[in-house]
Amino acid sequence: VWSRSSAVFLIPIGLAAGQRWEWAEPAMGTLVRITAYAPNAAAVRAAFARVHELDDRLSDYKPDSEVSRLSGQAGRVRISEDLFRVLSISHELASDSEGAFDVTLGPLVRLWRRARAEARMPSLDMLERARAAAGFRKLRLRPGEVELLVEGMALDLGGIAKGFAASEALAAMQERGATQAMVAVGGDLAVGDPPPGAAGWRIAIRHEVLTLSNTCISTSGDTEQFAEIGGVRYSHIIDPRTGIGLRNQGEVTVIAPSGALADGLATALGVMDPEAGRALLSKYRAVRR
Ligand code: ADP
Ligand code: MG
Repeated sequence: VWSRSSAVFLIPIGLAAGQRWEWAEPAMGTLVRITAYAPNAAAVRAAFARVHELDDRLSDYKPDSEVSRLSGQAGRVRISEDLFRVLSISHELASDSEGAFDVTLGPLVRLWRRARAEARMPSLDMLERARAAAGFRKLRLRPGEVELLVEGMALDLGGIAKGFAASEALAAMQERGATQAMVAVGGDLAVGDPPPGAAGWRIAIRHEVLTLSNTCISTSGDTEQFAEIGGVRYSHIIDPRTGIGLRNQGEVTVIAPSGALADGLATALGVMDPEAGRALLSKYRAVRR
């Protein structure tokens, strides 16, 4: 039933108390899947509208997204409330992880995307130039405004935007009374109240099935996205200390109170040593599975 086209699939299944709605649509560079129990599809439609709105603001693939437009230009720029919220959480995660999670790695992410396409290591010179334009301390955040301190900076929210969108889409349904719902933005999930008669939403990760409600869960790993150069696999997660993709990345799953945190923490843990990672998780009341 899932499709890569932009067509919309609504599958109503009759139930005594309302209906079960399932809807899948590509957005945010992945497939977004929503399941909800509700009398009609209005809440699900609202959730999708919210996802697309966030995609338009936060995507670094869309040349005229808010994020793409502000990248490259040093100086102060007014930003939307959504972007401000994502950047605030990002900044806190960056400080708390000593920069392991860093949304200013845009220049490095682009460099590695090209390396992956060409199957060739970036030159040291290009690596150095990209590193000079990265680093969360070169970004200043004030309410409603961001300031990029260095020329050539680029923001990349690939490690947090999907989780944020999952939570926001769930909230859009909850506001409309559809509290028994779940949203999956690729591997970033937000779940609300359990389905009728169930203890929770059954979520399969690696070797176990978890039963969850009113929480968020994100899995990050290099199973799909990596560059293979000279027989070595470089993850799409970059170690900010070296500017190079992780080489020994396993899968990391994190359960956290918000989607942005689950997503961001799962990305950060790939970079951090285990002990620092545990301390970071406990600060945010998050757990690793
Ligand atoms: P996925 O996109 O597969 O769900 P992640 O949530 O781990 O995986 O995000 C990886 C993406 O995050 C990369 O593609 C890149 O856009 C961005 N990124 C890479 N390294 C970092 C990092 N150290 N901190 C924050 N974001 C990063
Ligand atoms: Mg992530």
